[in-house]
Amino acid sequence: MSLKEYVLSIENLTVSFDGFKAVDDVSLYLELGEVHVIIGPNGAGKTTLLDLICGKTKPTEGSIQFGKHELTTMAEQHIVQKGVGRKFQTPSIYPALSVYENLEVSYPRGRGVWGALAFQSDEKLENRIEEVAKMIYLEDWLDVQGDLLSHGQKQWLEIGMLLMSDPLLLMLDEPVAGMSVDERNKTADLLGRICKDRSVLVIEHDMKFTRDIAHRVTVLHQGKLLAEGTMDDIESNEKVIEVYLGH
Ligand code: ADP
Repeated sequence: MSLKEYVLSIENLTVSFDGFKAVDDVSLYLELGEVHVIIGPNGAGKTTLLDLICGKTKPTEGSIQFGKHELTTMAEQHIVQKGVGRKFQTPSIYPALSVYENLEVSYPRGRGVWGALAFQSDEKLENRIEEVAKMIYLEDWLDVQGDLLSHGQKQWLEIGMLLMSDPLLLMLDEPVAGMSVDERNKTADLLGRICKDRSVLVIEHDMKFTRDIAHRVTVLHQGKLLAEGTMDDIESNEKVIEVYLGH
């Protein structure tokens, strides 16, 4: 496959903080339709790698190509507009607004610079809210206030809020932390549906969930890429067992 066919191409990415390399010469490629999971011990550089992709942190060396866009030096808000959505571990919704309103305010319409992503009419907005609410198991909860949802529902709502702007790349930080087994299974199913027409990059510690969702896995250790491959490759990799899975 040529590099042009990747949604995301990260090449030799390094970021140093006062000489300490939090991410050290990491390359990673993401195809359309792929769920790619990043694992590794605490301090491995997983969060910093996502910070680099979304523009929160700028690399010292290397490049980040997203479709035809060079993200390496692009400002954070422009990266969002190009179609990169990120969800942090703690759900961040509007607690006083209903599910419907949370989705509505996340709709890109009327935000000027969002232009290219803007939907055309109220009918399209209604349709999109309905479609997204159904996708995230909240179609019967549209009138319910955000803070009355369960922890898992809040996580789904935040994913739904990102989906309102139809990102091509969705980045999620430990999306099933604190969820029940049922909610976790539903989240795996949700990600399987979401990735049909986009790519998903997930930081995860839960190996069972990783096995359920990952097409490919990247293992980071001390900022460096330790291994990359399918879950079967990763689980049988001696270096990975030694530094991560064996603990
Ligand atoms: P992980 O998400 O895998 O637990 P992080 O990406 O949060 O790891 O952190 C990797 C390393 O980089 C840690 O040692 C952390 O302390 C360090 N680090 C991250 N951001 C900064 C920063 N802004 N300044 C200095 N050190 C940082």
